[in-house]
Amino acid sequence: MAKLSVKDIEIKEKKVLVRCDFNVPQDDNLSITDDRRIKAALPTIEYILSQNPKKLILSSHLGRPKGKVVDKYSLKPVADRLSEILKQDVLMLSDCIGDEVNKQITQASQKIVLLENLRFHAEEEKNDPEFAKKLASLADIYVNDAFGTAHRAHASTEGVTHYLKSAAGFLLKKEIDYLSKATGDVEKPYYLILGGAKVSDKILMIENLIGKVNKILIGGGMAYTFLKAKGVDIGSSKLEAEKLDLARSLLEEAIKKNVKIVLPVDHVIAEKFDKDAESKTTDNEIIPDGMMALDIGPKTIELFNNELKDAKTIVWNGPLGVFEMDKFAKGTRDVAVFIGGISATTIIGGGDTAAAIAKFNLDEKMSHISTGGGASLEFLEGKALPGIEALTEK
Ligand code: AMP
Repeated sequence: MAKLSVKDIEIKEKKVLVRCDFNVPQDDNLSITDDRRIKAALPTIEYILSQNPKKLILSSHLGRPKGKVVDKYSLKPVADRLSEILKQDVLMLSDCIGDEVNKQITQASQKIVLLENLRFHAEEEKNDPEFAKKLASLADIYVNDAFGTAHRAHASTEGVTHYLKSAAGFLLKKEIDYLSKATGDVEKPYYLILGGAKVSDKILMIENLIGKVNKILIGGGMAYTFLKAKGVDIGSSKLEAEKLDLARSLLEEAIKKNVKIVLPVDHVIAEKFDKDAESKTTDNEIIPDGMMALDIGPKTIELFNNELKDAKTIVWNGPLGVFEMDKFAKGTRDVAVFIGGISATTIIGGGDTAAAIAKFNLDEKMSHISTGGGASLEFLEGKALPGIEALTEK
């Protein structure tokens, strides 16, 4: 990577502003229900602390307060959790910019401070230059470790880099390194597994990767538009009728580019989209009238695993069935277990696919699970992410 990393910069006695992704889920009592995002930031935090900074100034957004102070979106619970994990006090500040904040940072006996939610100010998401300047004025150097927001040009991800030397944290660097493996010089055979609700969400990614991959395996809701395009009866399964022509042209392009497209050959079907719906397995690819496919069937699982077994690189974006409902989770689970057991580099797109892998407790089995759904999708679409582009060149 040509961008500066946190390891390349002099930190000693400097005030370091770090943009983290502490957008953690909370219950009604504001207790954090999953602290993986906080833990994911620890390598960068601990490294900076080991270099004796003057102050470590952490920042993040939480929820969607839409430019107003909304108490339930305060980052205070994150400061408390961080203090526990780091076994040292993290001072929660009253805001994220301004004289008072500057004073609090200067007077703090604590080494680590956490700015209040950046999105309490509408200027953050508008990438307002004045706001970015005020944020930058708190520190001497800037580190971005928030991949989940790197596809957005916000004041704390892009604006701030105009005023400070800017480096990637370890988490951001890991994302760039792995996702670059999927889009650049890829170790082959390289297979792409696609699923999820809609074809329309994945078109740009398919177009960007079709010239690089050797096979595309398609399951999930989007498979039925492709099956229909091939003339298969799909019953009442999910269909994007306006994408049928596009599905046909992608199938033709794949033939021209010598990319094998693998579609489901059987399905788990039900009459309705319901966790308690009575389910059946079809004998073949045809789905009877009035029935919808909600998961890939056993023959498809076997077929997919067989097609994947010699992979050197696998990118997976989108679950292969309605994994949130136990009856329709088997396809996604069995393929995840299989690829977790082979020696390929396995790169999991964020969002729902990452949620599925976490649900099956298979996180440790994958090479990389992206922390950003939208950001990883845009990266795989070949787009430049503003939060990464803006970092200082090495
Ligand atoms: P996406 O965010 O596009 O990756 O879509 C993920 C969603 O697709 C998940 O919530 C799944 O439940 C849903 N999904 C997967 N397979 C199907 C299917 N066969 N029919 C309807 N929805 C599906």
